[in-house]
Amino acid sequence: MNEQNLIDDIAQFFEWYQQVYDSEIILENPVSLPEQNDQTLPATEKRRPGKQFAKVVTYKQTSPELQAFYEQIKDCQKCDLHKTRKNFVFGYGNAHAEVMFVGEAPGRDEDEQGLPFVGVSGKLLDKIFAAIDLKREDVYIANVIKCRPPNNRNPKPEEIAQCEPYLIQQIDLIKPKLIVALGLFAANTLLKAQRSLSELRKKEHSYQGIPLIVTYHPSALLRKPILKAESWKDFKKIRAFLNEIER
Ligand code: URA
Repeated sequence: MNEQNLIDDIAQFFEWYQQVYDSEIILENPVSLPEQNDQTLPATEKRRPGKQFAKVVTYKQTSPELQAFYEQIKDCQKCDLHKTRKNFVFGYGNAHAEVMFVGEAPGRDEDEQGLPFVGVSGKLLDKIFAAIDLKREDVYIANVIKCRPPNNRNPKPEEIAQCEPYLIQQIDLIKPKLIVALGLFAANTLLKAQRSLSELRKKEHSYQGIPLIVTYHPSALLRKPILKAESWKDFKKIRAFLNEIER
């Protein structure tokens, strides 16, 4: 890299850093969400001992095929996570997205709202998207696991085994040109690997024949600011890939 390119790259990084990280993450400021339909279930199904009523929320998927698949699996009871979930978090976004982001599992906010990445990590993800000129409406976001593990514990192998076919089917329907694994769990699950994130980030991968880029989970960036510079490199790679296929 010549000196001018290096200076440009550093300037671009600082501009990105300021845009993405310099302002507070405001929880009350919602991500632009699709229109919501409340779906009333019989009280017996909604009531759980010692718990509040769970509000079941559904969002219309953006293609008939995804909607049909959602209808088919939304009441899944294949593993015990259905007993504690409020909502089945299928995934959401553009059914014809060129890029699909895959996270780990819903957290508390996602379980409440029935959508992926709507909590603090999601707010950061939106800012990172904006920095590479992407919007939620452009992408599809799903998780490996569709129901929240209690207290956000790591998903168990049997939960992954039951849930992963749903992700495979989503990928099959969306046919993205690029998959981005957000974090170690998504990366190791998709790649059937047991490697560190730094090792995985160094290599080119594919999943079901589709190029796959591994990057940090947004919550890791919030916990460890030192990773932000590295994550910028990954998002530049994602932008470059999209520029290439959009040419
Ligand atoms: N973390 C994830 O991995 N997925 C979400 O949807 C939210 C937080």
